[in-house]
Amino acid sequence: MDLGIKGRWALVCAASKGLGKGCAQALVQEGVNVVITARGVEALQATAAELRALAAPGVQVVAVAGDITTPEGRAAALAACPQVDILVNNAGGPPPGDFRTWDRDAWIQAIDANMLTPIELIKATVDGMAERGFGRIVNITSGAVKAPIDILGLSNGARSGLTGFVAGLARQPKLASRNVTINGLLPGAFDTDRLKVTMAGAAAKSGQPIEAIAEARKLLSPARRFGTADEFGAFCAFVCSAQAGFVTGQNFLMDGGAYPGTF
Ligand code: NAD
Repeated sequence: MDLGIKGRWALVCAASKGLGKGCAQALVQEGVNVVITARGVEALQATAAELRALAAPGVQVVAVAGDITTPEGRAAALAACPQVDILVNNAGGPPPGDFRTWDRDAWIQAIDANMLTPIELIKATVDGMAERGFGRIVNITSGAVKAPIDILGLSNGARSGLTGFVAGLARQPKLASRNVTINGLLPGAFDTDRLKVTMAGAAAKSGQPIEAIAEARKLLSPARRFGTADEFGAFCAFVCSAQAGFVTGQNFLMDGGAYPGTF
């Protein structure tokens, strides 16, 4: 299936590894030019080289090192993209913990990274998308938006704030009627560095080997495995496709069936 987005430009944030990288890869394979960002230059350049090796002739891959949660990082990423037709919002997740230990700064940091950064990038790009009659915005959030995880209160809170804001914005006729969609992708457990770090933390705390933690975690979903960044990226690319123009304001949970509700 040709997704009809060849030649478009995408800004994929936090994309040197994991889910962001999976999205960038799937978009490049569809002939989309990408600007990818991450803080660490080395991993970012390595990923850019991998993507260029996959890209058809003429498809551009631009790497911009910087912290997407800062105004400077966002300005540099936007400046590198001739026009943003597709925006994939992503950043590292907040740390786990007990809300009794979180002060105002901890909350502001989480809200900055996982709510205000995507909103700033949407603000900078969405009206241009509407003028041109095409735009796809995907916010990578978390399954925690639908089924909160107790130790991830910062994530539950900040990402739910983004989700609520976007639910209203996506339904504005001046966006939806101009072929601009905004949707959320909600990962459950995906096999990325982030998951490995979380599991290593759990292993250290419980004294169990990390393999035992991983096996127990896999059993939490009927799929009995973790998702892969490739699966995540392919789904993202479809949400960004020309064919998906009638789908907006939705939140897609990708968790191997772990969420137990009918809807
Ligand atoms: P990952 O650690 O594998 O990759 C994160 C990527 O983001 C890296 O490329 C890193 O360099 C980049 N990054 C982090 N902070 C950044 C910043 N401030 N500016 C620019 N780049 C930055 O993580 P992942 O598993 O791909 O997770 C992506 C997002 O999805 C995170 O917010 C995470 O909390 C969320 N999430 C992941 C899972 C999972 O199981 N993997 C589940 C739920 C939610």
